[in-house]
Amino acid sequence: ILCSSQDFDFFYFVQQWPASYCDTRRSCCYPTTGKPDEDFSIHGLWPNYNSGKYPQNCDRESSLDESKISDLVSRMQKDWPTLACPSGDGMKFWGHEWEKHGTCTSLDQHSYFQAALELKSKANLLQLLGDAGIRPGNFYSLESIKQAIEEGLGYGAYIECNVDPEGNHQLYQVYLCVDTSASSFIQCPVLPHGRGCGNNIEFPSFSSDSQSRDE
Ligand code: 5GP
Ligand code: 5GP
Ligand code: 5GP
Repeated sequence: ILCSSQDFDFFYFVQQWPASYCDTRRSCCYPTTGKPDEDFSIHGLWPNYNSGKYPQNCDRESSLDESKISDLVSRMQKDWPTLACPSGDGMKFWGHEWEKHGTCTSLDQHSYFQAALELKSKANLLQLLGDAGIRPGNFYSLESIKQAIEEGLGYGAYIECNVDPEGNHQLYQVYLCVDTSASSFIQCPVLPHGRGCGNNIEFPSFSSDSQSRDE
């Protein structure tokens, strides 16, 4: 058996900063439901092993059934918008996340998406960074960003950066670790490995100058 459901050690709960996504891709497309708020948004809730490896696509038979999450859709449009091109309503992104990651958990579709939404409301990154004086439109050190999250949430985070067209490192994604019940944050058993962030990280604002291909 390559990957049986629930056979994992913890989750990464990954949030993206929309302005950085748009810079990384050189462009992005706002969802058909409207321009996202200037706030972190959910990328995914990913089961992981302590070894750093992870299961994926555990049930090729299962696809996202819109009727099973209809009560969550308005919250998902706000907290889990899709920025990929061409513009979509989110179903394709959510369906991908369900198939690749959700099927490797023991949660049903509704519980999986609901759990992610609850985690987003428990970890209000924009607010806790702001409480530490870290606000969009400025540059910060990696240490100051990590410290603000650790102090505001009580748990450490892994910061993933991207490089914008001018060559600046930007705050792109924040990884928090969550227990297998998908309800409580934990200290990360292992951090993802990626490239460095440098020590001068832009936290770009998502204002009118952000490029979207289909305005
Ligand atoms: P990238 O290679 O862009 O970092 O990640 C591509 C995709 O691989 C992610 O969107 C996610 O689906 C998956 N992925 C990357 N790193 C991890 C990880 O550490 N854990 C898990 N569970 N999935 C990951
Ligand atoms: P991953 O495998 O990296 O978890 O999922 C990323 C996939 O979802 C990619 O195929 C990407 O094109 C699609 N996608 C759609 N909307 C978004 C978005 O807003 N952010 C990210 N990171 N991926 C998105
Ligand atoms: P250390 O474990 O010695 O603190 O860090 C080892 C390396 O990982 C250093 O280059 C440090 O900058 C980097 N690092 C530590 N935390 C993070 C993080 O959250 N994101 C990224 N991208 N690198 C990190």
